[in-house]
Amino acid sequence: MQTSQLGQPHEAMFLILPYLPLFELLSMTQLCKSLKDALKDDILPWLNIVVEKPLSTRFSDDFLVKITSKAKGRLRVVALKNCFKITDEGLLQVIASNPHINKLYLQGCTGLTIEGVLEAVKLLTKGNHRLQNLAISGIYNVKTEDFGTLCYLMGINQMQMRERKKNYYHRRDELCTFKQESHPSIDVDICPKCEEIREVFECPRDSCKRKMQQQQQEQQQQLFIECRGCFLCVPRCEECGVCTKDKELGEAACADILCLNCWLHLPKCSYCNKAYCNKHVHLQHSQRPAGFLCSDCSFHATESSDYEDC
Ligand SMILES: [Zn+2]
Ligand SMILES: [Zn+2]
Ligand SMILES: [Zn+2]
Ligand SMILES: [Zn+2]
Ligand SMILES: [Zn+2]
Repeated sequence: MQTSQLGQPHEAMFLILPYLPLFELLSMTQLCKSLKDALKDDILPWLNIVVEKPLSTRFSDDFLVKITSKAKGRLRVVALKNCFKITDEGLLQVIASNPHINKLYLQGCTGLTIEGVLEAVKLLTKGNHRLQNLAISGIYNVKTEDFGTLCYLMGINQMQMRERKKNYYHRRDELCTFKQESHPSIDVDICPKCEEIREVFECPRDSCKRKMQQQQQEQQQQLFIECRGCFLCVPRCEECGVCTKDKELGEAACADILCLNCWLHLPKCSYCNKAYCNKHVHLQHSQRPAGFLCSDCSFHATESSDYEDC
């Protein structure tokens, strides 16, 4: 189909553009010339920059600076997920010319240092600048003092944040980039078990929740709930986020943990009866007429059929 036959893009298109991840936005400009022309002059789609897979691994400082310059200093949201090539220098260059960013998500940007992040947050909370949401999980060497400074700069009351925000393990990858939140927040906390600054998860298991409510009623510190902790301290089911310590588990075909209940509901390898979590279903090797083999079983099956051929 020729783009000239398509005419002007529908007006509704321009309503969704500001909400598209960068990869989709750029792909669309490649697709249609009139859209490309329209986007060149329109500032709105460039105010929120969301970089995820598959762009994140290739996303460099130069690219970041180039793309964000399209917002002409009016950037609102910067979400860089696992963009490990981004350095403090690139980030700070963008922040310096865009002081009104109110959401800054930097999960897994391991090329950044906490010093760089602190510098960025200082600029974004200075005077009338209002950074509302910050995500830094995965950035190395964040100390308790750094966490305290970030909370102080952003005006976060740590106790209130804990009560308000229930962070669940199985929802950790959900993008809440455009959700309007009335309170400032940060994605990490002090793990009550190891005292490292990491994402700390609550437990959705009914019996654990009941225990927690009971403790709250008795006005005990919510912090000492047995299964509240970071991903290293409290192993959790990939599918439903419940703690799995001392509980019966289902056998997983991937490296994730599955509680027995979730395992029962998931499809299993026809040979070894292990299940994939939903994140890894693409590793299934489908079998005729029905069912699938896990990667391991499929590998061994082809190996042994090779022997038979000899
Ligand atoms: Zn921990
Ligand atoms: Zn589960
Ligand atoms: Zn629990
Ligand atoms: Zn198998
Ligand atoms: Zn998995």
